[in-house]
Amino acid sequence: METFEKIRDLQAFLKSQKARDRQIGFVPTLGALHAGHGALIEKACAQNAVTVVSRFINPTQFDDPADFKAYPRDPEGDARFCQQYGVTTLFQPSAQELYPEPFQTRVALPQLTQTLCGAKRPGHFEGVATVVSKLLHIIQPRRAYFGEKDAQQLAVVKRMVKDLNFPVEIIGVPTVRDADGLAISSRNARLNPQQRLAALVLNRALHEAQKKLKSGRVSLTWVKSHLIEQIQSERLATIDYVSIVDAETLRETTTPKGTVLVAAAAYFGEVRLIDNFSHTFAKRNLRQLS
Ligand code: AMP
Repeated sequence: METFEKIRDLQAFLKSQKARDRQIGFVPTLGALHAGHGALIEKACAQNAVTVVSRFINPTQFDDPADFKAYPRDPEGDARFCQQYGVTTLFQPSAQELYPEPFQTRVALPQLTQTLCGAKRPGHFEGVATVVSKLLHIIQPRRAYFGEKDAQQLAVVKRMVKDLNFPVEIIGVPTVRDADGLAISSRNARLNPQQRLAALVLNRALHEAQKKLKSGRVSLTWVKSHLIEQIQSERLATIDYVSIVDAETLRETTTPKGTVLVAAAAYFGEVRLIDNFSHTFAKRNLRQLS
């Protein structure tokens, strides 16, 4: 595995790989790598000759300085993790390398970021879109991989790539969970044992909502209020939002049509966790209660 800190060194290496017709796959991360990242990396390694993993705790996407400070950092563990997964190339630039002063440019998708996490974390997705567009320009991969756990991020990146004609295929990867169902996240390490147990309410409530929706006998309005009730019943959970949106526009909806994203965010102590599922209504279900 080759590790790069400088953009020009990485680009020189990738140029030599492209000259040999080797396709590049790219997995952007904040580091503190876990099995969720592992699923993206495995897919990238299976589909591309060269897999670039970036680990960069992007300061511009943290709306809360305390969250940025507390974000887990494990450079040695990440390097070992990448090596074990067969990553060919690790890119870990400094903030100075990616944002040399006087950095000005921002990429914004105002419509797609009015709901869900976007409504709760001002500036977050501008930070994500800006850093992802920079990384895509620097690396110029054939494919880039993003987790469905961060469903709004995936939608934002897909839209940005279409709008700005990036020559890359964006591939979504299903959420990886611990054996008890909790979506794996770098933030889980900050939960104490009681909070870790309480956090299971997110997946449990969403899973039940998904089953109910599949039965075709409940309305989206019912699903939303039932989800809120269930999460609120967990003493250690504080809801940030529960939302049902059209999967493409990310606008709130109560209409049982097309594909909807059912998403929730909650605090367990200081730790904010998110989870979601998507549901596609069969055409015959269009008359389902609304
Ligand atoms: P992060 O380091 O948290 O920015 O995550 C980097 C990428 O890994 C993002 O595309 C995430 O959506 C994805 N990811 C994080 N956790 C999971 C998970 N449990 N399952 C699938 N993908 C994940």
